Amino acid sequence: MKRLLEVENLHFSFKTYGGEVKAVRGVSFYVNEGEIIGIVGESGCGKSVTAQCIMRLNPEPPGYFKQGSIQYKGIEITKLSKQGIKRLRGSEIGMIFQDPMTSLNPTMKIGKQIEESVMNNMSVSRTEARRRAIEMLKLVGISDAGKRYSQYPHEFSGGMKQRAMIAIAMACNPSLLIADEPTTSLDVTIEAQILDLMKELQSKMNTSIIMITHDLGVIANLCHRIIVMYGGMVVEQGNLHEIFYNPKHPYTWGLLKSVPTLNMDKSEQLIPIDGTPPDLFSPPKGCPFAARCEHAMEICYEELPPEYGINDKHSAVCWLQHPYAPKVLWEETRAA
Ligand code: SF4
Ligand code: MG
Repeated sequence: MKRLLEVENLHFSFKTYGGEVKAVRGVSFYVNEGEIIGIVGESGCGKSVTAQCIMRLNPEPPGYFKQGSIQYKGIEITKLSKQGIKRLRGSEIGMIFQDPMTSLNPTMKIGKQIEESVMNNMSVSRTEARRRAIEMLKLVGISDAGKRYSQYPHEFSGGMKQRAMIAIAMACNPSLLIADEPTTSLDVTIEAQILDLMKELQSKMNTSIIMITHDLGVIANLCHRIIVMYGGMVVEQGNLHEIFYNPKHPYTWGLLKSVPTLNMDKSEQLIPIDGTPPDLFSPPKGCPFAARCEHAMEICYEELPPEYGINDKHSAVCWLQHPYAPKVLWEETRAA
């Protein structure tokens, strides 16, 4: 598989009156062609900021790249000019957001919005762009596409708006689609439909997808690999099977415990993780999760754990992986 995107030791901060907010601290991961990657973590863990670094959508200033690199098809994104990044957006990298209403233009017909996206990024005639817009509406499962083309966003349901957003993002056939909590505002049935649609489009068009979510359940059936973020860092990454059946980081354990399962009794409570995420003005010098971790040892407060390779598809940043650390097993904590 060919490498499409490579993020290497990325540090991104915001300058504020209160000091420097270290939103992303040494994040590394990659995306291959045709792969679906999930980035999971609670709000404020740096997942959206990381994704927006790839499209240079964070305001700069006050945001700035401190260190590290983002290579997309050999292009260094952190060094691109405004013009350069504009060329990549839409034509190479598309993005969909949580709330379609903030990205759809309420005063413009849906079809026209898709058409605009095509015209801006491809050198085609108006007629060809219109043909492509209708084709995209059909492709994302909007029936009666010819009629829907001429409707405004308020005439669409929530799920249809999100489908329209996907149509806009995919109209120029980008190599990479970044989806930031695209289904959070939808109910579960519609959510499942949208996720199926993304999966289908991915296999039809071989688009790589970065799916950002706070919910491991959302990506259980969708992603090939999962990156777990906490406190601006990657704490665990691995393929789907490894993260769900052989998780090694206590934070991932907490996330897994909060995923509802099909056979779960309605009266059973999902277990939220106690405590609050670290202060990104002055992050702890040790493990970012130490204050909330029930397995924290002395060293966890003192020193950042290294990245331990579990196998060639899986790594975790946790002192429990040190050969002399006490053995704590997920099977046991899950049962507890
Ligand atoms: Fe918990 Fe220590 Fe592992 Fe951090 S390094 S997750 S505090 S055991
Ligand atoms: Mg977010």
